[in-house]
Amino acid sequence: MKRNDLVLGGMTPLSTLDFPGRLSAVLYAQGCPLRCRYCHNPELWPMRATTQQTSAPRTWTEAVAWLHRRRGLLDGVVFSGGEATAQPALADAMMQVRALGFQIALHTAGIYPKRLEQILPMLDWIGLDIKAPFDRYADVTGVPGSGDKARSSLAAVLSSGVEYELRTTVHSHLLTADDLLHIAKTLQSYGVRRWALQEFRTQGCGDAELSKLPSALDPALVSRLREWVPDIAVRVAA
Ligand code: SF4
Repeated sequence: MKRNDLVLGGMTPLSTLDFPGRLSAVLYAQGCPLRCRYCHNPELWPMRATTQQTSAPRTWTEAVAWLHRRRGLLDGVVFSGGEATAQPALADAMMQVRALGFQIALHTAGIYPKRLEQILPMLDWIGLDIKAPFDRYADVTGVPGSGDKARSSLAAVLSSGVEYELRTTVHSHLLTADDLLHIAKTLQSYGVRRWALQEFRTQGCGDAELSKLPSALDPALVSRLREWVPDIAVRVAA
């Protein structure tokens, strides 16, 4: 591995869900500075990998060689995490993947807005987390100031013209009905008309207390939210 290569923590070789309308591979970048209680990939938090899927490419060089062999078989590559924008090597990695002929998607919590602005022109699709009302972000992420960063990233995404999805993971212990209404009104003020609500999944979550608490979305609340953002997709926990 070269010093400035993207550090990977894993890979999904084929996905039909992570990059809408495209067959894609998902690369999970190592490292995330946030500590969301519902995180289902806490093994990706450290900036250096401790464990990795044995079948996945272990280094960036191996990943590029693997993608080279998938040209013509996959439409795109998704950079996910962890938080892929935490690594300065992300832009170079995206350029290499684009040069192989793949479309590029990014999943991000938007906590590095300046770096995000730089890579937005390379993206074909972006999934941006909206984790809480911006002034309540730290209650969900554990990191003060993360809401201001996410707000800047939202503005950058909306002005970029890149196809996007905004998504919020919902657990009633972390986000109240008022919180969700607050987010809906904020999104409406930005002109957003589509929003995905993802029910909390216990799979992989390291917070045993959170996993025991009820978390299902109330359909009546979703109807109220649609008064502000008309097109809401609800992803029910499996
Ligand atoms: S931003 Fe994503 S990877 Fe980071 S802690 Fe939150 S859920 Fe986990």
